[in-house]
Amino acid sequence: MTAVDVKARVVDSVCPYCGVGCALSWVVDTQGNRILEARGRDGAANEGRLCVKGRYGFDYATHAHRLTKPLVRRENAYPKGALSWDDNGPRRPGGPVDPETVLPHFREASWEEALERVGQGLGGIRDTHGGDALAGFGSAKGSNEEAYLFQKLVRAGFGTNNVDHCTRLCHASSVAALLEGIGSGGVTNIVRDIERADVALITGCNPTENHPVAATFMKDAAANGTELLVVNTRRPRIADYAAMYLEIRPGTDVAFYNAMMHVIINEGLTDDAFIAARTENVEAIRENVQEYSPEAVAGLVGVDAERITEAARRFGRANAAMLFWGMGISQHTHGTDNARCLIALAMITGNTGRPGTGLHPLRGQNNVQGASDAGLIPMMYPDYQKVSDPDAQARFEALWGRTLSPEPGRTVTEITDGALDGAIRGMYILGENPFVSDPDVAKVRKALGKLEFLVVQDIFLTETAEFADVILPGSAFAEKTGTVTNTDRRVQVGRQALQPPGEARQDWQIICDIGERIGYPMRYPDVSAVFDEFASATGSYAGLSHAVLGDRGRWYPCPDPEHSEGEPIVFKETFPRGRALLVPARQSPPVEATDAAYPLVLNTGRVLEHWHTGTMTRRSAALHDISPEGFVEIHPDDAAAYGVADGGWVEVTSRRGQIRIRARLRDRVARGSVFIPMHFREACANVLTHPAVDPFGKIPAFKYCAVRVDPVAAE
Ligand code: SF4
Repeated sequence: MTAVDVKARVVDSVCPYCGVGCALSWVVDTQGNRILEARGRDGAANEGRLCVKGRYGFDYATHAHRLTKPLVRRENAYPKGALSWDDNGPRRPGGPVDPETVLPHFREASWEEALERVGQGLGGIRDTHGGDALAGFGSAKGSNEEAYLFQKLVRAGFGTNNVDHCTRLCHASSVAALLEGIGSGGVTNIVRDIERADVALITGCNPTENHPVAATFMKDAAANGTELLVVNTRRPRIADYAAMYLEIRPGTDVAFYNAMMHVIINEGLTDDAFIAARTENVEAIRENVQEYSPEAVAGLVGVDAERITEAARRFGRANAAMLFWGMGISQHTHGTDNARCLIALAMITGNTGRPGTGLHPLRGQNNVQGASDAGLIPMMYPDYQKVSDPDAQARFEALWGRTLSPEPGRTVTEITDGALDGAIRGMYILGENPFVSDPDVAKVRKALGKLEFLVVQDIFLTETAEFADVILPGSAFAEKTGTVTNTDRRVQVGRQALQPPGEARQDWQIICDIGERIGYPMRYPDVSAVFDEFASATGSYAGLSHAVLGDRGRWYPCPDPEHSEGEPIVFKETFPRGRALLVPARQSPPVEATDAAYPLVLNTGRVLEHWHTGTMTRRSAALHDISPEGFVEIHPDDAAAYGVADGGWVEVTSRRGQIRIRARLRDRVARGSVFIPMHFREACANVLTHPAVDPFGKIPAFKYCAVRVDPVAAE
């Protein structure tokens, strides 16, 4: 087909990948039902900019691997979870799951038959064993409407609060600390506010790779005079633009930030008027940080006392200082303590409620903020209303017409534990892939394999779908209309550009179909009506609708949607809990110390070109070509000590398993540490990770476990 043959139209939507939430337009070939091109739009978060994923990563939607019909497991099929895995770990060769391997073990079914089986499977377990024998994993890749319906189905239809999603794996500890400290889990200031900051502390994150367009605004700010203080355990590229880069040892964040507060408090750099007016418990912070002088912690943290002092003075003397953090802060067994320190640091210096200040945990997935707002978490209804609050329970019982459980449900890892011990018998998984994304996947494999009934709804045959009894084909982001909420609290409408392939259906309609089959019908004329019900139950979204959001969206809260874009800065006068609660934290040991047998610290994360478990980006031709395989990054000095060559194959082993992977020698990773991205099934980092969780946020310690690296012969 030549260019002149193509009939094209332009659809305004939002990038389906990260939490930056870049507005874009897709140029769609109307005859071929495919996207030809992605163009950046003038959105509040991106001003026309896109990264490589947004610009080139759309072709996964029309990949030949798409699920097009419902599937049911054949009788006498292979053992669950044995196709991409065996007792030695992930099977090779690599790449995303090949349908040719999996499909022979399933047969195509009509929607009628598939939904009937789901109704019998999930409904039967509920009726025999009670609702708490069921659980659901929703998705931060879906829309607010889907998240709202999913948790409503689980709570009102299944009869349990066992509903969670991947926020448990990324920022649950940040949210726990924010809810405790200020009474809200959302960011206080948008990313672009960095342009008005004198100093920005960027810690535990790698925005150039994980929030690429946000990183471009950080670099612009640095060029215009904002001092960047970058703190990390592995040098991120944004450090090239920093006034100071401080490389701390893994797991020493609490000591480092307590030392900064020690300097700020003892040198009189606190904002005493702000402390008096807007905080409580500052005396506990003053007392706690006294033993954490820069001199006392320098050896542990691995940064000279003078540099810790200088960083503290730069932050403390700034008129406006802002804090950004990522999963290097949150994904620890002390992740909540890490975030408590950052909140206290902002509060004792009066850095919130003004331009160029504030707290900004950079959200990972495109709708992890919205999915959490919509109640896709086990202890809270929409808008963070506690399920244990009788008034909230009564409100949602009236709205949903069912008696609801006041017991907080299980989190992601607790659901896995429940499946292992038999308490959880059936699951509904929508758009999640725990067999690659969750810690200690050998344990996850056993848990998924023990379920009596599993329904997976997705667009591809994921590794997790191999365990399913029924697989339902859903729709890709470009095939549906719905809202998503970015890291800035910006609510935007993603609009349908393509038709789902074959018999694949809209996800929100499939959720409602399952509701019908288990005796809890949920009927809406269209997806905007779902949003209206969600907004009516979620005070932060009051006044918003698809019509109001239009093509540009709004920040929530938006008290006057007709005349304003919403609030880019919140909590100017007071916090939702009134005064901010300052909670002292103490340095604690890692979950698994290194030793002679396992001498290196494993840090897991992401790369620019890939996304989560790679189900979408590994099926995008451009992204796959740039980044086709996993790797372990190791410092050249450590590589020399262990006999590892650049590009050579190694085995990485922890107490939970072993993977074979190619080595990259890089001095950006600190001596004594290695880094492995999480996206690659055949070199699955989560074979190695530790399942221990933070006691408050229940988030796993993806950033710290002990491993060893041994060179092996070429593949
Ligand atoms: Fe998409 Fe994030 Fe890249 Fe923007 S920065 S184009 S939202 S992946």
